[in-house]
Amino acid sequence: MSDLTADAVATGHPGTAPADGNPAAPGGGRTVATAVPRSLVERLAAGVTATGEPSVVETVAPLTGERLAGLPLSTPADVEVAFQLARRAQPAWAALPVRRRAAVLLRFHDLLLKRQDEVLDLVQAETGKARLHAFEEVLAVAMAARHYGRAAQGYLKDRRRGGALPVLTHTVEARRPKGVIGHISPWNYPLELCVGDLLPAFAAGNAVVNKPDTQTALTGLWARELLIEAGLPADLWQVVLGDGPVIGPAVVEHADYVSFTGSTRTGREVAQRAAARLVGASLELGGKNAMLVLSDADLEAAAAGAVRACFSSAGQLCISIERLLVHRSVADRFLELFVARTKALRLGGGLAYGADMGSLVSSRQLDTTTRHVDEAVKAGATVLTGGRARPDLGPYFYEPTVLDGVTPEMAVCGEETFGPVVAVYRFDTEEEAVAAANSTPYGLNSSVWTRDLRRGRAVAARLRTGTVNVNEAYAAAYGSVAAPMGGMGDSGLGRRHGADGILRFTEAQTVSTQRVMPIAPSFGLDDRQFAAVMTGGLRALKALRFK
Ligand code: NAD
Repeated sequence: MSDLTADAVATGHPGTAPADGNPAAPGGGRTVATAVPRSLVERLAAGVTATGEPSVVETVAPLTGERLAGLPLSTPADVEVAFQLARRAQPAWAALPVRRRAAVLLRFHDLLLKRQDEVLDLVQAETGKARLHAFEEVLAVAMAARHYGRAAQGYLKDRRRGGALPVLTHTVEARRPKGVIGHISPWNYPLELCVGDLLPAFAAGNAVVNKPDTQTALTGLWARELLIEAGLPADLWQVVLGDGPVIGPAVVEHADYVSFTGSTRTGREVAQRAAARLVGASLELGGKNAMLVLSDADLEAAAAGAVRACFSSAGQLCISIERLLVHRSVADRFLELFVARTKALRLGGGLAYGADMGSLVSSRQLDTTTRHVDEAVKAGATVLTGGRARPDLGPYFYEPTVLDGVTPEMAVCGEETFGPVVAVYRFDTEEEAVAAANSTPYGLNSSVWTRDLRRGRAVAARLRTGTVNVNEAYAAAYGSVAAPMGGMGDSGLGRRHGADGILRFTEAQTVSTQRVMPIAPSFGLDDRQFAAVMTGGLRALKALRFK
């Protein structure tokens, strides 16, 4: 276990800070080893369904590159066991009134806020992100817990619908749980994308078999413990760990519904497997999100917003902005403000507030980021700030980077970097900006900056993205948990949040009760007479404006 101090994170790595580089944030003095002790790892790891003598995989703390945890790996047979346990637990849970299930979410909300420091440490240790960005996960999960805790009953209640024959047919639309949800989640927002999505699934009466990314499994396991403390029956949430291409398909193979968050490439595979089994899936996938700075934007606010939009969690955020489209008339001034703010960001990974940006999660993310920037520069792009790794801070740190002069043949132009890199493009007309924003196969998030709010909403209506933020980066739409969030095009299928976010975990069931007479010839009517009566009845219903 690493005993590097958080101060060492900021100062203890080989290499010296470049003179004009981003400043290092103060460390804070706490260590990953003391924040995530072996006893905690062992306790949490006991929550993984892995039988026999499981093989163990080692995870690394991205902040320091040192060993973080040894975690047991599940086999496909363990996945089967997990589904059996979940299936056994689910009917009793589904039989509880919604209000009892929702109460668990509300208790979880309070426990999470109270014990947030524990999970902030875990999120930082597993992802390397700054504490402020880890806190955004607490925020998002608390909002979802409150929303579904309060609104689940309304979403799930039986709804009276018009019957086949007025008065004679009584019809109700009911919502039944799917059963056992297979939930596959990535490493980048390990709290929010794990438990945040599961809260409505539980509220709707389901059990879950969850495969988080192994790198960030401790965070999800901690949330599971907390939800159990809040009243969730333990078997209802099974966790399996393992290689995505091995364990992921096993989860899809047994699930009654699949909820997946990750890359578009893997999402397509998951969708095909689910389709072959005729089970539904929601897919929250990648993006190449654009921010539009219109000519009348408040440039100071837009520059500050762009920093949040591009560099939160070091750009490893699906709704991050990677393309900045700026009206030519304000581009120079905007870039002056934005680049100055970007250069001033304090980088560091102390387990305390104070850093503006943390580390990337892995060498894979660092490699993609470095490749996108280096290739673009070689092909003629200009680095306005950043453009280099910072091994003096930690193995995977990379400076927040602004590129100008990016052209379509460069990978960074159309491919998702998923790192702290943004390319700037200038436009002359709104038409041009909207066309450029819509020019990728993705359609996840976008951001529009203007002083004219009506104009902002009119531009939003023309953007092909699942969420649009006017005068905010991403948090306004994402935090509006009563409204749907998700992607168009290659960014996914289905939505989290709001009614969609919970109803996806249910089957609609129509229950119709027929009274007095059947919908067939009766009361001595022959077929012809029955047809005549019904024809008259249909005409009357239309005339009476029945729907
Ligand atoms: P990934 O697709 O590599 O992995 C996601 C999850 O799928 C992991 O748990 C992984 O182990 C598992 N997996 C891998 N192969 C699998 C397979 N064949 N079958 C089933 N499961 C498999 O994605 P990642 O690199 O972990 O995450 C980053 C990506 O996720 C980015 O593209 C990002 O934009 C996207 N993302 C989207 C959202 C959203 O809400 N739209 C949110 C966060 C991240």
